[in-house]
Amino acid sequence: MFKLKSNDIGIDLGTANILIYQKGKGIILNQPSVVAVDNVTNEILAVGDSAYSMIGRTTSNIRLVRPLRDGVIADFEVTQGMLNKFLEVLNLKSFLRKPKILICCPTNITTVERSAIKDVALRCGAKEVFVEEEPKVAAVGAGVDIFKPIGNMVIDIGGGTTDIAILSLGEIVNSSSLKIAGDAFTQAIVDYVKKEYHLLIGQRMAEEVKINIGLVDAPDSSITYEVRGRDLVTGLPKMIVLTEEDSCAALLPLIKEVIKETKSVLEDAEPELSSDIINQGIVLTGGGSLLKNFDSLLERELNVAIYVAEDALNSVVNGTGMLLELIETNKIYGTKQ
Ligand code: ADP
Ligand code: MG
Repeated sequence: MFKLKSNDIGIDLGTANILIYQKGKGIILNQPSVVAVDNVTNEILAVGDSAYSMIGRTTSNIRLVRPLRDGVIADFEVTQGMLNKFLEVLNLKSFLRKPKILICCPTNITTVERSAIKDVALRCGAKEVFVEEEPKVAAVGAGVDIFKPIGNMVIDIGGGTTDIAILSLGEIVNSSSLKIAGDAFTQAIVDYVKKEYHLLIGQRMAEEVKINIGLVDAPDSSITYEVRGRDLVTGLPKMIVLTEEDSCAALLPLIKEVIKETKSVLEDAEPELSSDIINQGIVLTGGGSLLKNFDSLLERELNVAIYVAEDALNSVVNGTGMLLELIETNKIYGTKQ
């Protein structure tokens, strides 16, 4: 019998980026989780790329919000509004078959927020909505078989939070969520340049530094990056050249915190799981895991093999795609969530 193809949808509602996957099509949207809000009416004026391009260029009537910034839903109404706007663009109601939607939310989300997020997707035309924990989906997307009775460890370093989790039999067994991740790394570069060079640089400049010469071990002083900002002494614009040694000095204190927390999650694990992790290694994912030499430093500190996921910025959304396949064939979520 002719069976209508499903076009189910997976959403990574990240603190820095929102990504949407559609079955049969792949990743159909990848935009920053930023919203432009009218200060007077509180109306949402723009979301994603178009809101991001307003950074530093808004009038006093418009404020830019990153509603998920710290990994908790700081501004819930704006989060709902943002999700609604993105889903409206997809026009789910025009789909021949109502899609199932799998949404990955930050780990610290409350039950009330979870069901409100579900409602947004249902109102936008979903047939059924599943909300899943991010580290689990990130692990799946990074190629880990989480459903086996074997301990696996994944560290997802996003924009707002670093989620450290040990999984076994499809569930999170030990975990911790730290508010030290990409945003904090960027801020550390701003603070370092201010302290060491008396130069004030913007967030976007600092993020460029992080992405181009950010590293956490074995710096090379011949690798440099030019930055522009405002000299705090003269008040005038100024350009200086930063080296990898600068970025390492700025980032290392935060990375040490991440390592410390990882050790404490490992210490809390059952010995069987620990021995599995020694065999399996640890998977790093999320944009923050792309910092140069993070893997080798962690390997040395923990004495465990470290693997950075191949597609670290897309692990969660790729994981939603794989889980949607398992949902379709009734391999998981046999009973409605
Ligand atoms: P989230 O899941 O919280 O939305 P992502 O996994 O999308 O976060 O990662 C976003 C973070 O990764 C941002 O802070 C960004 O600056 C950082 N990032 C992206 N690419 C790199 C890179 N090459 N090196 C270091 N950090 C990066
Ligand atoms: Mg993420």
